[in-house]
Formats: sequence, structure tokens, C-alpha cells
Amino acid sequence: MLKGNVRMEAKDKRVVVITGGSRGIGRAIALRFAEEKPKVIIVHYDPDEKASDETLELLGKKKIEAVSRKLDVSSWADVDAFFKEVIDHFGKVDVLVNNAGITRDTLLMRMNEKDWDTVIQVNLKSVFNCTQAVIRAMMKQRYGRIVNISSVVGQMGNPGQANYSASKAGIMGFTKTVAREAAPRGITVNAVAPGFIDTEMTAVLPEKVRESFVRQIPLGRMGAPEDVAEAVYWLCSEPAGYITGQVIHVNGGMYM
Ligand code: NAP
Repeated sequence: MLKGNVRMEAKDKRVVVITGGSRGIGRAIALRFAEEKPKVIIVHYDPDEKASDETLELLGKKKIEAVSRKLDVSSWADVDAFFKEVIDHFGKVDVLVNNAGITRDTLLMRMNEKDWDTVIQVNLKSVFNCTQAVIRAMMKQRYGRIVNISSVVGQMGNPGQANYSASKAGIMGFTKTVAREAAPRGITVNAVAPGFIDTEMTAVLPEKVRESFVRQIPLGRMGAPEDVAEAVYWLCSEPAGYITGQVIHVNGGMYM
């Protein structure tokens, strides 16, 4: 069941789906869309819906119509059924932001099969699942904006993140291929690669590790979720309509 405050009559507004929209970067992206007052659907995973309820409340305060849905983006069948429901209900999907992601960090020597499979499925297979589920409808309407959230470590590598960096590098290749396939139908597909961003994902790192990351950032600070949201929103805007197949880095100069 979709949960939230969307009125069905406003058909002209863009329908925006953001996976992992309950907190962190995904929440900031949802809020960044506020000025155009779209219909926003946020996908989350935790059965405790506290974070997604908070996001719905924040969106409501900005007068954005929004609904949330608990869904495991790594399940092809569940994702397929979810997007069928969304398209039945809203008639279309204009913007898809594939943002949901997890880490299971450990050195390769200690990484078990489950650590590998889970990260690849949640971070990379999910992007295939969600994109495939919307692409036909976007092609039919000859319009779509897809933004996939990759990571700086997909390009740089990072000890302890063989699974994560492989998933994020995979997203870059996927983005470029789908950008080529979808371009003739007016759909742009881009990736945003954040650097070291202040969210719950990085809050779990020991202070020493956080400090050593910040020392590698020429701009001298961690990024805010809003820094990433700005790039995502812009890629979905009309003026960015000639940009496709790109990876936009938002990392304070950590990787150039
Ligand atoms: P976060 O605060 O940990 O939030 C992760 C989000 O993903 C949550 O909304 C979570 O839902 C959702 N999620 C996790 N597993 C899911 C699943 N199986 N199905 C559906 N949703 C799921 O992370 P973040 O820092 O905002 O990161 C967002 C994206 O940016 C990720 O792809 C991450 O890899 C990428 N990124 C982050 C950084 C960074 O420094 N933070 C850097 C580079 C890239 P629940 O709230 O329900 O658990």
C-alpha cells in the first residue's frame, strides 16, 4: 500500500520516485524537488517507518504531495509489482533516482559471500530492477530523467570496500549503456558520484577514519546531503536536458 497525501487530480505534475528516500541523501533529494511541487514517492526498507514518516512530514510542510512505500529494491519481482502499481495509480513516472544503498565493509581477505552478494544486489541489481521497471513507460511518453547514485570509490577504490566499490563502478557502466539505449526517446540517464557525505552511512565510521577522509578533501569538509541533492535536481531540470551518460562528481575535490 502507498501511504501519504497525494491527490490524484493534479496530473500535470512530475512524478518522481526516489529509492532510499527515507533519510540521508535520498531525503535531501526529495526535499530539493520542493520548488516545483511534484508528486514524490519515496521508497524505504526499514519496517520501522520512523525515518520515512519524518520525510513525509517534512515534504508535507513544503506542500509537496508525497507517499512512501516499504520495498526491498533488490527483489526484481517486488520492484516490478511496485512500479506497475505506481504507473497504474499515477499514470507515469517522470523521474527515477536510484539512491538506495548499503555498505558491508571488510577487507577482501575476510569478506564472505553474503557480504559480497548483499551489497551487489542492494546497490547494483536494484538499479537494473528499478530502471527496467520504468523504462518502457518512459520510452512511451518520450520523456524521462534517471539519476543513479554511484560513489567516488567506484572510481578510486577504497580498502575494505571491494563489494561496495564494485557495485558503484557497475552503476557507472550501466548508466552509460542505458543512456545510449534511451537517448532516442528523450530520456537522459546520468550518475552522481558523491564523495564523503555526512549521513548515517558515514556516521558509523570511527572518528579517526572520518578525520583521515576529511584530510583528503581539498575543500576541507565533509559534503552535506544537500550538496548531492543539488546536482541530482539539476540533472533532472530542463536546462540539463542535453546531458546524458555522464558521471557528475560531488566530492569537494577528493577525486579529480
Ligand atoms: P543512508 O543514510 O544509510 O540511507 C540509505 C537509504 O537506503 C535509506 O533510505 C534506506 O532505507 C535505503 N535502503 C537500504 N537498503 C534498501 C533496500 N534493500 N531497499 C530499499 N531501500 C533500501 O545512506 P546515504 O549516505 O544517504 O546514501 C545514499 C546513497 O548514496 C547510497 O547509494 C550510498 O551508497 C551513496 N553514497 C553515499 C556516500 C556517503 O558518504 N554517505 C558517499 C557516496 C555514495 P531505510 O531508511 O528504510 O533503512
